[in-house]
Amino acid sequence: MTHARAALLVRTLIITAAALACAMRPVVAQNPTADLEAKLPALKGLERARALAKLVDAHKLDEPERALRYGSEANKLFSITPDPVANISALNEMGWASMTLGRYDSASFYADSARRFAERAGDKAGQARALSNLGSLAQRMGDPTNAVQLFNQALVLQRAAGNDRELANSLNNLGFVYSTDLADYARSLSLHLESLSIRQRLGDKAAIALSLNNIGIVYDRLHQYDQALSYFNRAFALRRELGAKARMAATLNNIGDTYFDAKDYANALVYQRRALEIRAALDDRSAIALSHRNIGLIYIAMNQLDAARRELQTALAISDQLPDKGLAAQIHLGMSQVERASGVPAKAEEQARAALALATAMPSRELIRQSTEELASDQEAQGRLASALEEFKRAKVVSDSIFTANTARRIAALEQMYSDAQRGRELDSLRREQAELELRASRRAIQRDGAAAIALLVAIVAFGMYRRRVERGRLAEALSVTDALTGVWNRRYVQQMMHMDLAATLRRHRVSASRGDSPDDADLIFLMLDVDHFKAVNDQFGHAAGDLVLTQLAAALRKACRDSDAVVRWGGEEFLIIGRFANRQQGARTAERLRQAVERHTSVLPDGRAVRVTCSIGFAAYPFDLAALDALGWEAVVQIADEAAYTAKREGRNGWVGFLRNSGVGPKLTEAPASHDEMTLLVDQGRIRQESSWTVRAADAQLSFPTPERAQPAV
Ligand code: GH3
Ligand code: MG
Ligand code: MG
Repeated sequence: MTHARAALLVRTLIITAAALACAMRPVVAQNPTADLEAKLPALKGLERARALAKLVDAHKLDEPERALRYGSEANKLFSITPDPVANISALNEMGWASMTLGRYDSASFYADSARRFAERAGDKAGQARALSNLGSLAQRMGDPTNAVQLFNQALVLQRAAGNDRELANSLNNLGFVYSTDLADYARSLSLHLESLSIRQRLGDKAAIALSLNNIGIVYDRLHQYDQALSYFNRAFALRRELGAKARMAATLNNIGDTYFDAKDYANALVYQRRALEIRAALDDRSAIALSHRNIGLIYIAMNQLDAARRELQTALAISDQLPDKGLAAQIHLGMSQVERASGVPAKAEEQARAALALATAMPSRELIRQSTEELASDQEAQGRLASALEEFKRAKVVSDSIFTANTARRIAALEQMYSDAQRGRELDSLRREQAELELRASRRAIQRDGAAAIALLVAIVAFGMYRRRVERGRLAEALSVTDALTGVWNRRYVQQMMHMDLAATLRRHRVSASRGDSPDDADLIFLMLDVDHFKAVNDQFGHAAGDLVLTQLAAALRKACRDSDAVVRWGGEEFLIIGRFANRQQGARTAERLRQAVERHTSVLPDGRAVRVTCSIGFAAYPFDLAALDALGWEAVVQIADEAAYTAKREGRNGWVGFLRNSGVGPKLTEAPASHDEMTLLVDQGRIRQESSWTVRAADAQLSFPTPERAQPAV
């Protein structure tokens, strides 16, 4: 079947399914909240108290002040005619309304009262809700560890009570903390997926929108902007349909953030302003401060510094009255950028230190990383290079700890669990639907229609399962930054992390150039390593043995590298090693160290047989040309390293070749040489210098590398 026809069939099935679903749903009242409010004057005593409790819930987000007024009246009435469950609910929702207003003291008072009351009354649902509110509060106040603990306590109660709606809420909240504060995207995604699947089963649109929104956030963090926007747009459509204003503003804010991350500042500004407009109308102060801060950051990116400073000062004035440390830290980071861009790096450093202190007190890994990076930039702008480099290395460590090597494996396992559970549920519901249809069909004796309906349902469910499985597979793959076979980084890691390395490298070089000195650890060295005659290993020992050799080789390479270097599986039997904080003069030594590590390594197969291989290595340094720092992008430099590896193969294997630019000789290079011949020409012209294990042996005895032997396919 062609793609187009498949798509058409799918659309038809979905439309049919949607039509069936609509036909089966009963008609509901247009606006139950307005109805209840209209009835209020006629209500007295307990009945009135219960109605008020419901209204607290209905207004806690869009009209929190009103919700609080209803709540205090409800509390008074409940003290005369008690209804513990309704009273606990009112207290809980009053806590939420206070949180919306940025009044964290009263929020924590209400939530804590609700928790203690619920414990005494044995109201498990109310207790779980209170714990969950306290968790949100902890998260907003910058205590993610405590938030995780509280959400988990809520989760245990909700699982035991089989309360799916609340269970989905806690899963969602946990997922949010993991992505936003703890930068654990794998765990975050699995929690959001479980939450979404429960919410879809319940058909709760507001909650489904929340899940979609939060999945969008995870994608944005992973720099997958199209995916992020598509989830946000789905969330926004649902929220507009529901008229949920605070939530609409949140999604607009997120869309703005995503455009910002994608460097589309015009759109970013449009969406942030739309969000601010709604928030101003709602008087949600912490959200208003956030909007001003976001707009400030956009102005910085557009280099409109006065406008940026105004926005950030407004944000700071508001946030100073709120206890939200994370928000304050983010605003200080923005201020630091403005001061640095305005040429006052000492003031910028003060702001970055304020942010770092707040982030460390929280503690939030992501904010610590951002503050440390910012601090490094400020120090560098003041010419304090040594301390700047130290700060940058610290940021790098935090950053790498975010992408741990276990991430990929954990995602795969979690996705599998989720998809098994989901499939089980789908089969159950399919069986139920079938039984029901068969019953109806036989009753009405319209056997043929029944059979057709069954066939249709089978097709719908089967297709739904297929589509979700494909989507999940893509997701797991899209998220992993490690190679499934060898456990070292994969290409995606390089794509996601390279911008930080490039920025640091270029910054160091620019500062040095302006001072006329040359930094000795500012280069990135790319080493491309290709195993020699690897096909022979497969042929002789089998593919599985080949896999094992690659895994063991990867581990050996890791061991031969510094902690700050990255070992990446670039393709089949090719590895890319990225040397950070390096000097191009060290390229040859590093290549030789790696060559020896491979040559000396013995892989052992399960049956005890030993396999030894050699490799050919090519390297090049970034920036390629010290006289034209950004003339060549990193991809071009990797391509040159690849060409060098190929040259090493031609020279006889088990050796290395480096191509380095002789700065100032000839015009600048704006792209990598397209062929081996072109490279040879550039070397002949003296524009590029070739270093290699073969020439070094002849020319520079003091390096005294051991004589590479001829390649041994496999021993
Ligand atoms: P040379 O690089 O020295 O020119 O020879 P080679 O035999 O290594 O080169 P070639 O690129 O022709 O072949 C690479 C081989 O590596 C072919 C492929 O079967 C094998 N290979 C690539 N990826 C894997 C893998 O994941 N597992 C196993 N077992 N083999 C792999
Ligand atoms: Mg190869
Ligand atoms: Mg090879």
